Amino acid sequence: MARRDFLRRGALAMLGSAAGAWAQPAASATSASGSAQRVVVIGAGLAGLAAARSLRQLGWAVTVLEARERIGGRIWTSTQWADMPLDLGATWIHGVRGNPLTELADVAGASRRITRYDRVASYATEGHLLTDAESARLDGLRQQVFGALRRAQDADADRSVRQVVAPLLQAHPLGSEGRRFVEFVLSGDIEQEYGGSAARLSAHWFDSARALKGDDALFTEGFGVLTRHLASGLAIETGQVVRAVRWGGPQVRVFTDRSEFGADRVVVTVPLGVLQANAIDFAPALPAEKRAAIERLGMGVLNKCYLRFGRVFWPPEVDWMEHVSAQPGQWTEWVSLRRATGWPVLLGFNAAERGREIEAWSDRDIVASAMATLRTLFGNAVPEPVDYQITRWAADPFARGSYSFHALGSSPAMRDQLAAPLAGRVFFAGEATAKADFGTAHGAYLSGLRAAQAAHTTQGGHR
Ligand SMILES: Cc1cc2nc3c(=O)[nH]c(=O)nc-3n(C[C@H](O)[C@H](O)[C@H](O)COP(=O)(O)OP(=O)(O)OC[C@H]3O[C@@H](n4cnc5c(N)ncnc54)[C@H](O)[C@@H]3O)c2cc1C
Repeated sequence: MARRDFLRRGALAMLGSAAGAWAQPAASATSASGSAQRVVVIGAGLAGLAAARSLRQLGWAVTVLEARERIGGRIWTSTQWADMPLDLGATWIHGVRGNPLTELADVAGASRRITRYDRVASYATEGHLLTDAESARLDGLRQQVFGALRRAQDADADRSVRQVVAPLLQAHPLGSEGRRFVEFVLSGDIEQEYGGSAARLSAHWFDSARALKGDDALFTEGFGVLTRHLASGLAIETGQVVRAVRWGGPQVRVFTDRSEFGADRVVVTVPLGVLQANAIDFAPALPAEKRAAIERLGMGVLNKCYLRFGRVFWPPEVDWMEHVSAQPGQWTEWVSLRRATGWPVLLGFNAAERGREIEAWSDRDIVASAMATLRTLFGNAVPEPVDYQITRWAADPFARGSYSFHALGSSPAMRDQLAAPLAGRVFFAGEATAKADFGTAHGAYLSGLRAAQAAHTTQGGHR
């Protein structure tokens, strides 16, 4: 079930003991000579930092290799506006109850604010607030979309989300209000959340991640407060772009564009998109099941455009604004930071194919397009923004997208294939390996703890 739908209904979800998902040290990591065994962790995002910190606590000598000149990966708090730290990657702890990041945030002393999906203003294509009748029609169509998807999940053969919803789309002529409402649900409820286009998302598996209970919380200092906390005291080498991993011998050798590292174990946490681009050469080659998982899972896109204004001209008490745009997926979802932080800042999103497409546009064109939508909603007197910040996650060579999704032809078992260790020496973590929590920050974190535990307890050996 789509997370937002889930929250709207106030349903309950099960969370196993997430924070307890890793065990305590089985033994300290020392070699026969008594010196600490070495592990290299590739990537200093949440998964890599969680793995590195955990392994260091277990007695390993840990080196983290990070391609960028900064840590955090898809956790990236911009300090471009000194008075307003903005998250260009993840913003929220999704579902604060039972979420391991809540506990981590408490330990890090990170202050948070809650935003709520029910503090929303929804606007029709022409720019007026949806009338009661329009809202009722939209809700009815939303139920039809999710009803069709639920039925499709019981069918033997998988289809894409768009294929399943096609009869509903065809029942409404192009350009009609009904058609725009269905497209709005596909974009606002599904593509914005999962990052993949409805044409590629698997109807069977698109929503197979669990939804955690509780509100969504954002960090007043930015999400980077957590990655800074995890990184403290770790040996992290930034600017080390890993090109090759040689894992055939008794030691694993990791080659970067400027150095070479040897280790007893390696934990690979680079994003799925980086693996799909074959940016790291594994020798011996990766097993066929892992290659199939890499090829078939999808890497989605969610891009952000922050607009800073001199004054608040939108409803100050809402957290979300939605627009039933005439062009499917065009600036359908907005967040206002006014209530949570007091800042006169709006955040507009573009996801999936639309999110990919606008990466080729100039900043100026992106801002102009966003402003055209805001003027449709609030009139021509809307002032120009005083500044903006824009992301392009698909073009980022160290991300190649925002987060993974279940593409048609993939299955949850493939995430286990992606996570499977090689010869007890090479371990894999990262959000895409998190079967129950893919696409999320807590999934990345838990995957790092899982890989650390596996690296610590697994007997290494030759293939
Ligand atoms: C726009 C956006 C919004 C999001 N919103 C949310 C949200 O609100 N809540 C939520 O829970 N999740 C959200 N997510 C998802 C969340 O950010 C990710 O799931 C999580 O941060 C992934 O962590 P990771 O450690 O798996 O990967 P990453 O953070 O990507 O870490 C991988 C690291 O590997 C490094 N690397 C890549 N290639 C190489 C190489 N060749 N050599 C060395 N290092 C390399 C990268 O630079 C990176 O630092 C969002 C993501 C995006 C992009």
